[in-house]
Amino acid sequence: MEKKISVLVVEDEPDINELIRYNLEQEGYNAHGEFNGTDAVELIKKEAFDLIILDLMLPGMNGLDICKYLKGNSTFSDIPVIMVTAKEEEIDRVLGLELGADDYLTKPFSPRELLARIKAVLRRTYGNKKEEKNDGEVLVAGKLEIDIDRVMVKKEGVDLNLSSREYNLLLYLVQNKGKVYKRDLLLDRVWGDTVFVEPRTVDVHIRRLREKVEDTPANPQYILTKRGAGYYFSEENSE
Ligand code: CA
Repeated sequence: MEKKISVLVVEDEPDINELIRYNLEQEGYNAHGEFNGTDAVELIKKEAFDLIILDLMLPGMNGLDICKYLKGNSTFSDIPVIMVTAKEEEIDRVLGLELGADDYLTKPFSPRELLARIKAVLRRTYGNKKEEKNDGEVLVAGKLEIDIDRVMVKKEGVDLNLSSREYNLLLYLVQNKGKVYKRDLLLDRVWGDTVFVEPRTVDVHIRRLREKVEDTPANPQYILTKRGAGYYFSEENSE
């Protein structure tokens, strides 16, 4: 049997901490809860975790300082961190300080969303080797169903026949939904750094993807443009 993935949940609100751990355990992860920032750091020094879910506002050491500490220390800097923040404005702090958090979530979030983020972060960090063997993993976003094992996307049961690039682009945006990506960054993440293509290529693929995915490609509801900033998958309209 493969070793279970071990997740540390640092969250001072007992109900939320317990809910997160419950959902993790249901998915086959090992989950450990900490309620105080200072205690969490002490534990991280003693025990190996594969992933840390870190609340921003904590008694003892706060989440920002913990993240800064972990990412600045070569022993811990590879452990992926998902920051959890209570308010939209705090995201700017998390991002602005470039703490190196691997992802973030704004409260309140659904367990399904958290689990999707965890899987995406684990996949990015460890590739598939640590990912749970999970037959038939399907991501649902609005009317879209992304079948990860079969590498296909259905909308209301109909196969959209995406090219592999379109698939990877959509999957990346869905797994990071709500986050806005510049074309350069999407090229880097989806095309990889071995390929030299014009940033405009991203626009072309986004247009084709919209033609397949959207009800009305000219007025997209899933794959949106943030003017002057980039593209993102909408959480609001697609749920
Ligand atoms: Ca808190």
